[in-house]
Amino acid sequence: MGEAGWLGLRTPTALGGRGLPLPRAGALLFHLARHTGTSFAKLSLQPEFSSVLAEHGSPELVEEWFRPLLRGERLVGNQVTEPAAGSDAGALATVARRVGDHYVLDGEKSEAAFARDADAAIVYARVPESGAKSGITAFLVPQDLPGITRVVSSGDLGERWMRRGSIRYAGVELPARYRIGAEGEGFRYVKSELTRERALLSAIYLGVARASWGETVDHVGHRMAFGRPLSAQEAVAFPLLEDGARLDAAWLYTERVLAALEAGGDGEATAAIAKWLSTDAALRTLDHAVQFHGGRGYSSDLPHEQRYRDVRSGSIAHGPSEVLLALAARRMWSGR
Ligand SMILES: Cc1cc2nc3c(=O)[nH]c(=O)nc-3n(C[C@H](O)[C@H](O)[C@H](O)COP(=O)(O)OP(=O)(O)OC[C@H]3O[C@@H](n4cnc5c(N)ncnc54)[C@H](O)[C@@H]3O)c2cc1C
Repeated sequence: MGEAGWLGLRTPTALGGRGLPLPRAGALLFHLARHTGTSFAKLSLQPEFSSVLAEHGSPELVEEWFRPLLRGERLVGNQVTEPAAGSDAGALATVARRVGDHYVLDGEKSEAAFARDADAAIVYARVPESGAKSGITAFLVPQDLPGITRVVSSGDLGERWMRRGSIRYAGVELPARYRIGAEGEGFRYVKSELTRERALLSAIYLGVARASWGETVDHVGHRMAFGRPLSAQEAVAFPLLEDGARLDAAWLYTERVLAALEAGGDGEATAAIAKWLSTDAALRTLDHAVQFHGGRGYSSDLPHEQRYRDVRSGSIAHGPSEVLLALAARRMWSGR
């Protein structure tokens, strides 16, 4: 992906990315996911998931870690979630104590993608000495420092290439130069990144579902049962028509959100809705793809069962659907 220019679609050209506007990046991701038929397209977003580093990291950190990430030479993960703090990320308990010219990191991160494969991770931890209300601060943590233990989890429903797991930090000494931006600003930095990534992820889920939808429409037009093609059964044809319309509607909504974000709009609530809407439409479609391909649809001879398992993560990762709707509801009724 690095060699082919797929990493850093919207990263500014000054940093080595392609500098594309968000709607264009979204369209490319949609087509990448559709033509490959896999949410592996998400890997293209890894620099976007690390934009806190690009935007707030020191020039040395950007040179050392962000540019190699764009070239596909180094993998940088993100670690927010903890065993007792997931949706409620503000409850995180990992601590980075300031001691002289370094920090000492203690805590445990969980559910993280690339638990074993990441060369470094953007880790969110509380700095008790910061004086800021939450003290939550972003750090770039090379994953081979003494005191780090990485445990890959026993297995996932889908997207197994992420090899997720837990990372324990026990008295890890981290030079102060690895801090990203100011103490206590971690969550403020990550907010706009999360908004953009939710909208771009929507494009990927819709692309994967569109691949299966096309294959299913084709299949039911040919597959004979009871003397006629499956498409002649309303119980088969109507859901597929509905799915096609839902995928289109979700894509139009997503395009609108991406355009508004590109124009500088806030978009936090609408991007949250876009991810929920797209995941919902995509999962419905993929479920029908499995169903209407019958026994083979359920098997790994065909790609639909894997696509279903992969896209299923979309209702949990980068904000569970319920949490995203709660966010949008707060914005609608109380403006917060
Ligand atoms: C494929 C995948 C990749 C991931 N990669 C990473 C990563 O790289 N780094 C990282 O830090 N994390 C990662 N995560 C973790 C992910 O961000 C968390 O799983 C997610 O934030 C939910 O947190 P939790 O698992 O603790 O669930 P909980 O917070 O325990 O919530 C469980 C469920 O309860 C419901 N719920 C929670 N809060 C509310 C609410 N307020 N209202 C209504 N319902 C609610 C939702 O259905 C939610 O799914 C990944 C997860 C997946 C599935």
